[in-house]
Parts: sequence; structure tokens; C-alpha cells
Amino acid sequence: MGEDLINTIYFEEDISEHPRTLSILAKFKTARTIPIKRFGEVFNLRNQNFRIQKSKPALILARKHSGHVLQAPGGFGIGSTENFYFSHMYNCVYDCRYCFLQGMFASANYVVFVNFEDFDIQIDRIINQYPKKTVTFFSGYDCDSLALENITGFAAHILQVFRRYPKSLLELRTKSIQVKPLTSMEPIPNCVIAYSLMPEVMSIALDNKTPSIERRIKIISILARQGWKIGLRFDPLIHGKDWQVLYKELIEGVFKVIPQESIHSVSFGPLRFPKAMHRDIFRLYPEEPLFSGPLEQRGSIVAYRQEIENEMTRFCRQTFAKFIPDSIIFQCTPEGQSVGL
Ligand code: SF4
Repeated sequence: MGEDLINTIYFEEDISEHPRTLSILAKFKTARTIPIKRFGEVFNLRNQNFRIQKSKPALILARKHSGHVLQAPGGFGIGSTENFYFSHMYNCVYDCRYCFLQGMFASANYVVFVNFEDFDIQIDRIINQYPKKTVTFFSGYDCDSLALENITGFAAHILQVFRRYPKSLLELRTKSIQVKPLTSMEPIPNCVIAYSLMPEVMSIALDNKTPSIERRIKIISILARQGWKIGLRFDPLIHGKDWQVLYKELIEGVFKVIPQESIHSVSFGPLRFPKAMHRDIFRLYPEEPLFSGPLEQRGSIVAYRQEIENEMTRFCRQTFAKFIPDSIIFQCTPEGQSVGL
């Protein structure tokens, strides 16, 4: 992301002298800087216009006081029984039409938490709670793990932390091709670089501002060659004209260039939204065809009709199974939530 894209930075007075605050501010010499007491006074303001803000978001630098690492929702995982997630920032430089962040936050501004070390303490505490288990941590839940790396440096920081915990697993989920921290260090065996993929034609319509699928696959292949473990995330699965042909081409195309031994896991999950979130996102983008597709309300979620969901799930699982063992294929169905990363 170009640093000229930010022209307003709010910072909490409490962290005004924090080394990361100072180094981030130094990257935006011409930005307007505004001290605030707590980030919520800007971020949680009522009646903000998400769509207008998204075109010119401000950056908010803050301290995270609690909830640094949280339990992942049920049905979300890649093989461990203990799953947690953390977010060093809220919001994303990309603008995927199905993204649950649009319905979650009132603001499109970016919040970056600068107190990385407090995340480290929580991670250490959780790992020590489960000495006999592999604990998996997901980064990139309320943001993209790498897209703002040139500003935050979080991935470079957290990867080094996980070197100390070889029994644990870290997943960095991303659509970014800014992979400098990865290509400039020795791969870490217990870190999975997970890329979200969908057929190019669907991505062009829905993954606004993201690198194309073709460019993502090129980067995955470079990372795999370097020795990084790769996660492939087909989540959410999107229904549409010729979906079977498109997904078959995509899956076969990926496995042609990524050696099987580099693949840590493949996960997939159907498109679904909690009811209230679907209503909020639909209000933002009433003209979006994605929301007028074959969706229905099922209990507290809005999802594709059950037979469509079943057909897509079956088809993708069978296609994956041609290339990789069943033991590394995971279906994610976090309760009521489409993981859109
Ligand atoms: S789905 Fe992921 S990459 Fe897309 S806008 Fe949301 S957080 Fe960013």
C-alpha cells in the first residue's frame, strides 16, 4: 500500500512516545496527526459512512488493553483441538464484497495496535496452558495479515515469536503479495502461509483492490519453493454460472504449480452470514448480485440453499482429494459466519 494513501492519523496520547508509534508516524511525514484519548471515540462513532470512509480511511494508532488472543469460533480449524485468533489491527486495505468486517465495524478506518509485546505474553500464556497439545493461532481475522506489513511490521515480529514455540502452529492468512518479511527470512516450519482463493472471474467481481488470483498463485509458488508451508483457503465458496468448471480449473491449476509436500492444509467453507450482518452488508451494497443469488435464511444465518451448499461442498472435496490426502482437507463452518479472508 502506498503511504500517500493515508492523510489523517489519530494516535492515542498514551502511546504517543511508543517506538512503533514514532516509526509509523515517521513514514507519513505529510499526514495530519491528531491526538485522542481512546481509539473508540473515533472508531465507534455512530452514523459513520462506511462506504465513503473506505475510499480514504484514516489510520488510528492505539493500545490494545484486553482480548489480545481469543478462542476461535467452533467449526474453525486445521486439525488442532485448541484454536485461537488474534488481530493486530481492525479493518483491511482490501474491499471484498462478502467481507464480514463491513457489517462488524461502524468505521472503515484502520486501527493498528502498537503494543505487540502484549500479544506475545498472551500467546505464551495460552501455549503454557496446553503443554501436551498443538495449539493453533490464526492471524488475519479482523484484517489481512500482510497487506499493511510495510507500515506495521507485525508479521515480521510475530513470526520470530513462533520460532520459540515449535509445537504450536501459526497461520498467517492473506491475499497480499507483499511477502518481503517471508522471503527475507528462513522459513519457520510451524508457520503456515494461507492464501484465500476463488476462480479469477469471481475474484474480479468480488475481491476489490486485491491482487489477482494469478498473482497470488505465483507468490504461493515462490514461497513454497523457498520452503514455507502453504495453506489453501477456498473460503467462501461462491456459487454462480459454471461454478463447477471454474472451481475445477482453479483447483487443478493450483496443484499443478504447488508441490504436494508444500501444502500444509486445504480448507473450504460455504458462503454464509449471520442474519444481522447480511442485512447490514446488503444495506451498504443493495445492487450487489452476490446478495440476490440463491440465498436463504436458515435459522440465524443467511446462506446458499442447503442443496447448493451440499453440492458445492461435495464437488470441492472430491476435487481436492484427487491431489491431497483427506487428512489435510478441512471444512470450516464457523457458526453463522463466513470467513472471508
Ligand atoms: S475478506 Fe479479507 S482480504 Fe477481503 S476485505 Fe475482508 S479482511 Fe480484507
